[in-house]
Amino acid sequence: MLKPSSPIQYLKGVGPAKAELFAKLGISTVMDLLRHYPRAYIDRTTIGTIASLAPAQNCTVMGTVVGFQVRPTRDGRKDFIMVLSDDTGTIECIWFNQPFLQRVFKVGQPVVVSGEVGYYKGKQLKNPVYEILAKEDQELIHTGRIVPSYRLTAELSQKVLRRTAKRTLDTCLPLIRESLPQHVINRRKLLSLQDALRQIHFPDDWKNQQRARERLAFEEFFYFQLLLARRKRRAQEPSRALAFSTNGVAFTSFTRSLPFELTSAQKKALEDIRTDLSSRRVMNRLLEGDVGCGKTVVALAASLIVADNGCQVAFMAPTEILAEQHFDTASRLLKGLEVNVAALYGKTPSKKKERILKETASGDTHILIGTHALIQDQVQFPRLGLIIVDEQHRFGVLQRATLIGKGIFPHVLVMTATPIPRTLAMTLYGDLDVSIIDEMPPGRRKIITKAVAEGERVKIYEFLAKKVREGRQAYVVYPLVEESEKVEQLMAATEMAQKLSRHPILRGVRIGLMHGKMRSDEKEEAMKRFKAGEIDVLVSTTVIEVGIDVSNASIMIVENPDRYGLSQLHQLRGRVGRGCHESYCILIKDRDMGEDASRRLGILANCDDGFKIAEADLAIRGPGEFLGTRQHGLPEFQIADLVRDGALLSLARREAFLLLENDPELIHPDNGAARRTLNELRDLSSALPSA
Ligand code: ADP
Ligand code: MG
Repeated sequence: MLKPSSPIQYLKGVGPAKAELFAKLGISTVMDLLRHYPRAYIDRTTIGTIASLAPAQNCTVMGTVVGFQVRPTRDGRKDFIMVLSDDTGTIECIWFNQPFLQRVFKVGQPVVVSGEVGYYKGKQLKNPVYEILAKEDQELIHTGRIVPSYRLTAELSQKVLRRTAKRTLDTCLPLIRESLPQHVINRRKLLSLQDALRQIHFPDDWKNQQRARERLAFEEFFYFQLLLARRKRRAQEPSRALAFSTNGVAFTSFTRSLPFELTSAQKKALEDIRTDLSSRRVMNRLLEGDVGCGKTVVALAASLIVADNGCQVAFMAPTEILAEQHFDTASRLLKGLEVNVAALYGKTPSKKKERILKETASGDTHILIGTHALIQDQVQFPRLGLIIVDEQHRFGVLQRATLIGKGIFPHVLVMTATPIPRTLAMTLYGDLDVSIIDEMPPGRRKIITKAVAEGERVKIYEFLAKKVREGRQAYVVYPLVEESEKVEQLMAATEMAQKLSRHPILRGVRIGLMHGKMRSDEKEEAMKRFKAGEIDVLVSTTVIEVGIDVSNASIMIVENPDRYGLSQLHQLRGRVGRGCHESYCILIKDRDMGEDASRRLGILANCDDGFKIAEADLAIRGPGEFLGTRQHGLPEFQIADLVRDGALLSLARREAFLLLENDPELIHPDNGAARRTLNELRDLSSALPSA
C-alpha cells in the first residue's frame, strides 16, 4: 500500500528510469508529486461538435479517427494529417512535421483533440493536443476540462506528469492527512487538504481552483508564521531580561531639552520601546522609517533609559563614517547630561582604544558607538542592556548574535531606513515587533525631483555650476548593477569624472570620484573629503551610504535611473535635502528609455512617502528584485505570492500567532496536525531570515 512518503517509483507507470527524471524536478515521493502544483492551466472545458467549430483558439472536440496519412511538403517537412468525425461532420487535424504520430493512432479510435481552429481548404485543427480514449479512461485528463500545465524537465512530457498526477490523486489522496488544524480550517472556511490537492491539479472549475490556491497559500504562510511566532516566543521567554523601570534624570532632561518637539510618530515609537524595556521580556524591535525621519533621536532616548538604570548600550553602525556621524549627534545632543558616550572604530589608535575598552569593561561608559569593532572579543560590557543596530540589512546574522552573546538577554533595537512593504516586513522581520515612523519632522522641504532628457545635459550642468558657485555640493550617481559590470561601470564613472572636470561649463568645480573597486577605507576617505567640503561634486558608482548626512549637499544627479528600483531611487535622493537648502534630484533619462520606465520615474517625482513608493516598487518588480536578488533572505514560497496575497498573509499570521498563544507547545490534541507539520518543516526553517 502506498503512503505519502513512498518513493515515486512505486507508482504504477513510473518505475526507476522515470523516477530519475522526476527527481530532477525535486519529486521523489508521492507527496512531492502532489505538492508539485501546476504552473498554469489551459481551459478546455467545453467540448463542441465538429459542425459548430469556428476559427478560434482553444477548441475541443471529441470524435473517431477515420483515417490519416503522412504528407511530405515541398520544403521537406513530413506533416501528419488525420481526419476525425463525429455525428455532425468531419475535420482535418494537422501536426507539422510529426510523422511518428502514424504509429500512435489507429482508425476507429475515439479521441479528444483541442487546439486552435484555422482554415486551410476547410476547417483545420493545427497541432492540437490529443488524448486517445481508452475504455478504462473514465475521465478525461488532457482535454475537456481545465488542464494543468506543469513545470517540466527535458524528457518528461506534460502528458506523463498529468497522467502520473491524476493516478496518484486517484489512488493516494485518501491517505493524505490534513496538515492544518481543523478549527483553523473551519474558522477561515478553507478547503481540506485533500480537496485542495485535487482541485489544484484538476480543478472542476475556476472557482475551485481559486479556493484550492487560497488554501495552499494560506498553509504556506501559516507555517512560516508559526515558525516566526515560535522563534519570537523563545527570544522573549527569559523573564531574566533586565527591566528598566526607573524614569531617570538623563532621559527626562534629554526629552525636555531637545531643541525640537518629537513628532507624534516618534513619540509613539519611543513609547513602544519604553514599554518593552520596562517589561521583563526581551525587546526585539524594528524601528523603520525614511531617512531623516528622526530614528536616531529615538534611539538615543532609548539609550538614556538604559543608562539611567545603570546599564550599557552598544550602538552599531555599518560603516565608520556613519558611526562617527552618530557619535557626533550623540555628543551634541547629550551634552550636559551625566552620560558617558564613547566611540570605537577599527582604526582607533591603540592607546585610545585601550582606554575605551577599559572604561567599557569597568562599566563607566554608558553608550559605546562603533562599527563591527564592537563585536570583537576584547570588548567587554559588564552591564550590556541594549543593542542598537543601525541599517540592519548590512549586518550579518552572526554579528547580531555575537553582540547579543555579550550581554545577558540584552534588548535589541534594529533600525532601518529601507521602507519595507507590510507583506515583506511580516515575512522578513516577522519575529520582531515593528515601530514605524511615517512622519517627517515639520518644516522639511520636499526634494524637487525631475526626470530630464539626456539632450538637456548642458542645461543640467549649467544649473549644477550655478549651485556650486552658491556654495552647494552635489552627488552624481552611476548605478552599479552587476558584479560583472564593475569594470565597465568603473570606466564610465572615471570617464564621467574626467569629462565633468574638463567640461567648460564646470570650470573650477572640484570633482571627486568614489567607485566600487575602492577599498572601504578609500571610500570613506572620499566621503570624508566631500563632507569636509574639499570636493564640490562627488561622482560615484557605488551606492552612497544610507543615512549619510552632508547637509550642504543639495543636488543629486542620477544617470541611468531606470536601472534602479523606485525604492532605491527614493533612498538615494534621501542623501540630499538634509540641510536648509532647497534640494533637487535630477534623473537623466536615456535616449531609449521606454514609456513604462518614464511613467515609473513619474511616481517618484510626485510622491515622497517611502512606504507608498515601496509598495509601488514591489508591485512593479516583485519581491526578489525589490530586495535585491543576492541575499534577500526571503523564503521561497511555492504558491503563495507576497505581492498578490497580502490579505491572506495577514490572516495566516494572525491565526499562527493566536495558535501559539493559546497552546505554546502545541500539545492540545486539536493541534496535532500543526505540531506534526511544523516538525516536518526543516527546509523552511533553514530559510528563516536572521537567526
Ligand atoms: P534618521 O536617523 O531617521 O535618518 P535622524 O535621527 O538622523 O534621522 O534625524 C535627521 C535630522 O532631523 C537630525 O538633524 C535630527 O536632529 C532632526 N530631527 C529629528 N527629529 C526631529 C523633530 N521631531 N523635529 C525636528 N528635527 C528633528
Ligand atoms: Mg540615520
